[in-house]
Parts: sequence; C-alpha cells; structure tokens
Amino acid sequence: MALEGCFLRNRSRLDTIEFYVYAVGVPWFILSLIFTSSAATLTDSYRHKGLRKKLVAILKEKGIEDQRILDAIGTIPRHFFLDPAFADWAYKDAAFPIGSDQTISQPYTVAYQTALLELKAKDKVLEVGTGSGYQAAVLAEMGAKVYSVERQPTLYKRTKKLLKEMGYETIRLFLKDGSEGLPRFAPFDKILVTAAADRVPSHLKEQLAVGGILVIPVGDKVQVMYRIQRTGEKTFDTQKLDLFKFVPLLKGVHDDDA
Ligand code: SAH
Repeated sequence: MALEGCFLRNRSRLDTIEFYVYAVGVPWFILSLIFTSSAATLTDSYRHKGLRKKLVAILKEKGIEDQRILDAIGTIPRHFFLDPAFADWAYKDAAFPIGSDQTISQPYTVAYQTALLELKAKDKVLEVGTGSGYQAAVLAEMGAKVYSVERQPTLYKRTKKLLKEMGYETIRLFLKDGSEGLPRFAPFDKILVTAAADRVPSHLKEQLAVGGILVIPVGDKVQVMYRIQRTGEKTFDTQKLDLFKFVPLLKGVHDDDA
C-alpha cells in the first residue's frame, strides 16, 4: 500500500519493529483489557443456553403460550442480570435479590405480566421499576420501544451500564418516582408496573393512550394483578386477575447517602 510504503521507506529494521510494537501491540493490549474485563462477567456458555431451554419448558408447562415471550426468555442471558456468583440461580423460576433490598422478578411473573400487555412491535411501553433491567430487555427483545423508570440510584446506574454493554441502546432509563409516570413522553400504548401499589396511581391512567393497557399489581401483603384498558377519554375497563407478591412501590427517589 502506498501509505505503508511511505512509512517504511528510510526506516531501520529496529524502527520498523518499534513501529509495530506501538502501532499494533498497544491498541491490542488496550482492547484485550476491555474485552476480557467485560467477557469475564458477560459470558453465555452452552450450559447457560441449556438451562435457559429448560426454563422456557417450565414456563410453557405453567401456561405461557405466547411464542414471542418464550423466544425472548430463551434468548436473553438472565444470568447477566445477577451477581456472577449466583449465575446458576438465574435459570430457576424464582425471584432473586439484586441488591438495594430489591429483587429481579420471577421469570413466570415476567412472562405473565408481559402476556397481559398484548404487545405489538413498536408499542411505546413505560415500565415502572427497572430493577435489574431484565423485564425491560424482554420488552425490547419483543420489539417494544421501552421507557423504564427506577427510584434507586444504585440500581439505575448499574442497570444503565449493563443494558448498554448488552447492546440494548434503545431502552431509555430514568431515575425518578415512577408513580408520576413520564408525562413528557406520554401517551404510552402500554404501562407495566413491577412493584406493588396500594392503589392505581392516577398519573399512570392519564398517561395511557386510548386503547392502551396498564398492568399493575395492587395490594398490601399480597397483590391482585390488575389489567386496566383505557376504552375512551374518561373510561377504563378493569380486570382483576391472579395473586402475586411484589416489593412495594415507594415514594420519591431514594437517597443513597441517607
Ligand atoms: N422489573 C424489575 C424488577 C423490579 S423489582 C426486573 O426485571 O428486575 C421492583 C423495582 O421497583 C425495584 O427496583 C424498586 O426500586 C423499584 N421501585 C419501587 N418503587 C418505585 C417507584 N415509585 N418508582 C420507580 N421505581 C420504583
């Protein structure tokens, strides 16, 4: 190549070796540091893929029929969302602690809530309670445009970094009290709340598009899953479904330094 020729002409052999050490060796060293540090935590092995298949079979047995949901759960490495020491727990159908006194929802609950949303590709979805980011990833994997709100700064920061590393660049995360919704981006086709509300926040109903669906667990010690469809400007149709147990929907943004 002309450029290479012009570089190497008039150079001694030593200069050439030095040139390669700097031009090739230094960038390679930096890149290898970057890739090995994220690969150490973000490795999806055949074993993980096998465990995921089993989890999908369990969810099918429990009545989850929507193939798009099963495909999303079969695709997303759920163990990336837990501390690496607990990777094997990721494929049990169970909730699990993710720090800051919060939990990643049980896969069955994720699938159940997602099914109630009756997602269409490109639906604009608001999630309240980002937590680990797993539910947001499921929605994004199914083609939704996801806006997700979290009140815990530590979780918000950690999840923002993880979702970026995993390539979910289109998921938009916000550090806010999600009970207020996101008026700036309303209306939403679907709204999903992943923490227990004592009653349905009026802001969320107001930010639903006509025809849109809000899925929210309501109750104190146990919660009833509500599926609320906006049928008109002022009319809503509410269905009360099965019982679940969620962490509470709390007020305000948490102060990590308090
Ligand atoms: N969807 C999450 C699980 C959520 S656990 C996942 O897939 O991992 C419930 C989350 O809701 C917690 O992270 C909690 O901090 C958050 N939360 C509770 N009250 C909230 C509020 N008012 N606004 C936003 N997030 C809230």
